[in-house]
Parts: sequence; C-alpha cells; structure tokens
Amino acid sequence: KEELNIIQGALELRTKTVEDVLTPLNDCFMLASDAILDFYTMSDVMQSGYTRIPVFENERSNIVSILFVKDLAFVDPDDCTPLKTITQFYKHPLHCVFNDTKLDAMLEQFKKGKSHLAIVQRVNNEGEGDPFYEVMGIVTLEDVIEEIIKSEIVDE
Ligand code: ADP
Repeated sequence: KEELNIIQGALELRTKTVEDVLTPLNDCFMLASDAILDFYTMSDVMQSGYTRIPVFENERSNIVSILFVKDLAFVDPDDCTPLKTITQFYKHPLHCVFNDTKLDAMLEQFKKGKSHLAIVQRVNNEGEGDPFYEVMGIVTLEDVIEEIIKSEIVDE
C-alpha cells in the first residue's frame, strides 16, 4: 500500500508544479533587511525553527537575500549587528523558479545542490499595467519529497 503511494507520488512529479506545494509568502517567516540582530530578533529566529530565512527590503514580496541560521554562529546579540552585515558577508545566492516548474525538474535542480530552497515567482499580467514578476512563496526539497511519499514530514 505504502509502496503504491510512493510510486504514484513519484509519477505525479511530472505533472505537479511547484505552485501546488509551495509555502505561500504570507506564511513565510522572514526578516526585514534593516533588522538588527539583537537578542529579541535572534530569539525570534531561533523560535521560528527554520534553517533558512528570506530577507526582504521594504515589502515582503521583495526578497533580496537569504539568512542561514548557521550564519549566526559567530554573532553576539549584545553587539547589535545589522542583519545586512551578515547577509553581505555570506551572500548566499538566491534561487528563483517560475510557478509552473514541474516537481521533477525542481528535484533535479535541488539535487544539483545550489540551494535547497527556491523562491517561486509568476508573471502577473492581470490588470491594466505592464506584466511584472510576482513572488508567490518558497519551495524546499522537503516540499518535493513530501509529495513523493505523500505524507507530512514532521520537523524535529
Ligand atoms: P527547515 O530546514 O527550516 O525545517 P525545510 O526545508 O525542512 O525547512 O522545510 C520544511 C517546511 O517549512 C517546508 O514546507 C518549507 O516550505 C517550509 N519553510 C522553510 N523555510 C521557511 C520559512 N522561512 N518560513 C516559512 N516556512 C518555511
């Protein structure tokens, strides 16, 4: 029974897209790029439990960098380091994909190992103005794997 589920999940990777499995932008735990890494912000990050935290400038849809929790290893909250100092030091590349990326293609990209988190964007051509790229949310390797095994992975 479980094997059948997994086979079906694997087959569906060719038809499902990242849009089907992403974590919507509104549910993402993020930091503003002008944040200060004081005790308050750092405890917030720790309590969120996430390993990768998108950093936005001005509005949440404008993701400019990613903070890895391990980047904080040498940061002393008493120093009140600006978040920018850390993100500009590590400069983790942003990995963007379009909403219609199929999950098998996404899995291949994740396997290549650049990053196990991608920002999902779409072309918004509704309304009067020119079309523009709109960030919909984030997708991680775990979201793809959950689709294969068809069950939630409960985080540690
Ligand atoms: P982590 O290593 O931080 O636990 P995973 O890659 O294992 O993250 O992903 C677990 C789930 O959490 C996935 O559904 C993913 O989309 C979501 N996720 C990852 N990072 C964040 C974040 N910063 N805010 C909200 N959800 C996130």
